[in-house]
Amino acid sequence: MKAAAVGSPGEVEWIELDEPIPGAGEVLLRPLACGICTTDVKLVRAGYRGDPCYVLGHELVGEVVVAGEGAKWQVGDRIVAAPYIPCGACHTCRHGQPTLCPHLFENSLDPGGLAERVRIPRPLAERGLFPLPDGLPIEVAALAEPVGCCIQAIETCGVSAGDAVLIVGDGPMGLINAAVVKVWGAYPVIVAGLIPHRLAAAKKHYADAVVNVAETDLSSFVAGLTAGRGADVVIVAVSSTQAVENGLRALRAGGVLNVFAGVPEGTTLPLDLRRMHYEQLHLTGSFGVGPTHMARALRLLANGQVNGAPLVTGRFPFERTPEAVAYAAEQVGLKAVVIFE
Ligand SMILES: [Zn+2]
Ligand SMILES: [Zn+2]
Repeated sequence: MKAAAVGSPGEVEWIELDEPIPGAGEVLLRPLACGICTTDVKLVRAGYRGDPCYVLGHELVGEVVVAGEGAKWQVGDRIVAAPYIPCGACHTCRHGQPTLCPHLFENSLDPGGLAERVRIPRPLAERGLFPLPDGLPIEVAALAEPVGCCIQAIETCGVSAGDAVLIVGDGPMGLINAAVVKVWGAYPVIVAGLIPHRLAAAKKHYADAVVNVAETDLSSFVAGLTAGRGADVVIVAVSSTQAVENGLRALRAGGVLNVFAGVPEGTTLPLDLRRMHYEQLHLTGSFGVGPTHMARALRLLANGQVNGAPLVTGRFPFERTPEAVAYAAEQVGLKAVVIFE
């Protein structure tokens, strides 16, 4: 079977793999839709040194085509898959921190979502697959993983109704964070970014206010909307130190800042410890998604509390996966989704 893998730097490489055979309790999926994530873009940019074998895609919607002995799913079931599954029994799992589980990646999509067939290992098949809700388009259902990541971030920040929330970043994850934090009752939700068409989409569908940081000073803009206090919560969905610094300047005393975007190894931040102490700032980070976040994300998408459709601006057939990755990398629109036959 064909799979889209990380190739030499900047390239998606097609590789040929044996079709996986599902064992007891496992299922084999035929993908229906798979979102392209910033993680995929970063992996492709970095390239694979050695044999190309890392298969892209982890935002998967699929149909069961083979159900192993004793599997809880049947052939024909249409499901949304979590990318990986925490063990549920370790120290961090028992502290409600599923993505710190040391076993997180032991059971994941095999070989990845952007392949003709995907094997789902037993623990993932048992706890990390969710029925595709009736009437939810597959391309919108493919947003369950990114929406789930935002739910985890927003829970980590302890957002309450009426909180002023600043999202730094106008990419798909910035807009999804804005959409989700609205469900938590935040007001105003402010999206800061640099790309006019993305800011326009944010304003039209998700945010109460948007600000182009190339033209306007962020902290004074936020101060103007919060009686001079600054944001109660800042979520930084841009991979840079400067974005975090800008976010910190717009954070109120006692506020919470979340480093949401992944950054390259060695990325550091000069921190004003005196301010941190006297202003009682909270710095947090969040990564990934647990099964409860996935389940909640699907409900929000299915019942319309999160309007996912405007986020999907690029649709590509499987054969054009490299173009889908380029579409995401070049920030042409918002989210690119690969749609299978
Ligand atoms: Zn993702
Ligand atoms: Zn665990």
